[in-house]
Amino acid sequence: IWGQARAELERAVGADSFATWIEPLKLIRLDTDIALIACPTRFLSDWVARHYSSDIMRALETVGNPVQRLSFEVAAMPAERPAAPAPAARPANPARAAIRGEDDLAAPLDSRFTFDNFVVGKPNELAHAAARRVAEGGPVTFNPLFLYGGVGLGKTHLMHAIAREIQIRQPESRVLYLSAEQFMYRFVQALRDRSIMDFKEMFRTVSVLMVDDVQFIAGKDSTQEEFFHTFNALVDQGKQIVISADRAPGEIKDMEERIKSRLSCGLIVDLHPTDYELRLSILQSKTEQFRNTQPDLVMAPGVLEFLAHRITSNVRVLEGALQRLFAFASLMGREITLDMTQECLTDILRSSDRKVSIEEIQRKVAEHYNIRLSDMIGPKRVRTVARPRQIAMYLAKQMTSRSLPEIGRRFGGRDHTTIMHGVKKIEELRGSDRSVAEDLDMLRRLLEA
Ligand code: ADP
Ligand code: MG
Repeated sequence: IWGQARAELERAVGADSFATWIEPLKLIRLDTDIALIACPTRFLSDWVARHYSSDIMRALETVGNPVQRLSFEVAAMPAERPAAPAPAARPANPARAAIRGEDDLAAPLDSRFTFDNFVVGKPNELAHAAARRVAEGGPVTFNPLFLYGGVGLGKTHLMHAIAREIQIRQPESRVLYLSAEQFMYRFVQALRDRSIMDFKEMFRTVSVLMVDDVQFIAGKDSTQEEFFHTFNALVDQGKQIVISADRAPGEIKDMEERIKSRLSCGLIVDLHPTDYELRLSILQSKTEQFRNTQPDLVMAPGVLEFLAHRITSNVRVLEGALQRLFAFASLMGREITLDMTQECLTDILRSSDRKVSIEEIQRKVAEHYNIRLSDMIGPKRVRTVARPRQIAMYLAKQMTSRSLPEIGRRFGGRDHTTIMHGVKKIEELRGSDRSVAEDLDMLRRLLEA
């Protein structure tokens, strides 16, 4: 039961959080309404109780063992070394291996996350090139390398690829890769165990430090402080640092100014949202890999194109969809057709349906009214251009979750009051002018298709 629940939890909270917080837990007893869970430390049990209780309950319910509440027990452990959630202790999963020499500290690397397996396209080519450069070693040219971008666009993949490559090229170097969450966990643990000197020593003697999802420590004052000192000490020694985050340094809220400016002084590159071509190449590459293990896979033409068109949110979702298709096909011994794809992925397709981008709206509206796409963001005020532009503004407000200022920015840096005015205008026309109402309906259907 616990094994199943753990698998469920890993999916729910993500691999990183799972390794840090859930992995070290043990299910001791399962009564009709209460689950007793053992944790190696008090800190861990407090944290898990506060942040992951509902996830655990949900997971237990999913695997058929709902309970009313959870009870945590701190299990006895050797005094000198906290039974930290050493992610290295995962022999169960051969796909993961800890970086050598740092077994007690580093997060495990996913063996699938290599440069070879990273598909390069326009949206990620800069980030990829910068990552390659750092991985090749040599003189430290940009420090830190700061990678940022939305969820599931390949930040962690690139970080693991860098770590692995450096380990291969310079086996004697000490590469330390971990998530910011793990950094905080180690730090707090060191404070509790009064082993902060060891902690500092450990971090300050690495050759390369890589911290994933640094936005996590925003608002966590003492952790930020420690991170800042670690960062400075390493930069002073000329050690390479690689950081990732979900947004640019300047945009991270509740992060100290001095840290932001430190983070900005190297090279900052972003991973852009995927485009159709990149999504298609990724799907092709994953399908090819799958074919290596299942040579008899049959897939109708057009399936990958369909997926690349319809699932635009992020690569993780794209991969998940493909995985499910493969599993379904091999279980049922069926060929993958377009029909089967639609049937098998209804939920994923539906949830990505609602995501329409402002760019798409502008494109479709421009097409429909036969004006140039550049006029959407340009200054022209003639009616034949201004009206369609307002229609696009209206649809952007209706169909996306963007705020007025954000929409303004996408319309050539217009003020949010201009957008509001446009939206109001179309709202009025919609009530008074049948042809406008019909146009809107049709455009919306086009965009939702
Ligand atoms: P992030 O850390 O930015 O949220 P990840 O690096 O975890 O995203 O990527 C999510 C999934 O998508 C991973 O399985 C990763 O291997 C895959 N992925 C992302 N970008 C690419 C790419 N360009 N080529 C191949 N796989 C990719
Ligand atoms: Mg990540």
